[in-house]
Amino acid sequence: MKALPRTEFGNPILRTKAKAVPLKSLRTPKMKKLIREMLLTMHKTGGVGLAAPQVGESIRLAVMETYSTEHRPHLEQRGPIVIVNPRIIQYSTILKKDWEGCLSFAPEHVGATVPRPSSITVEYYTEKGEKMVERASGLWARIFQHEIDHLNGVLYVDRLKDMKDLMTRNEFKKRKVKK
Ligand code: ZN
Repeated sequence: MKALPRTEFGNPILRTKAKAVPLKSLRTPKMKKLIREMLLTMHKTGGVGLAAPQVGESIRLAVMETYSTEHRPHLEQRGPIVIVNPRIIQYSTILKKDWEGCLSFAPEHVGATVPRPSSITVEYYTEKGEKMVERASGLWARIFQHEIDHLNGVLYVDRLKDMKDLMTRNEFKKRKVKK
């Protein structure tokens, strides 16, 4: 199994509202294969989330996982999870800015400190079609929001209030040390 080719910023599929996934289709070999390949693609690229439109499928499905990586050595293992037809049902009023990059934006060492609600409640279906309601905060909440944005044709750059927040990962690390 190979990592899937990824769509990149500028590709119209990343600006399209993706279609709901019929839950019955989760049982098909085609969908199971897509999920396996998306998980593999996320791992091989060192990402913590990947949405279907990023691999050319305009459907409301994404995968998420945190684990310790070169850039985030202290991250706890969480997931992997598959989120199908996710919907955020509650947002905190408190916004927090933190680092975000995107697997569709090459070079990947460019990103931004993106303001987002610090906690959310999200509803989604698992790959088995089970309905989940989850309260999330911190990085996990940020990943949910970033991936769900992808399903709505929204990219993290759209969330910036100030283009000065766009920076390289090295610059972000320098700022963190200064604070
Ligand atoms: Zn992204």
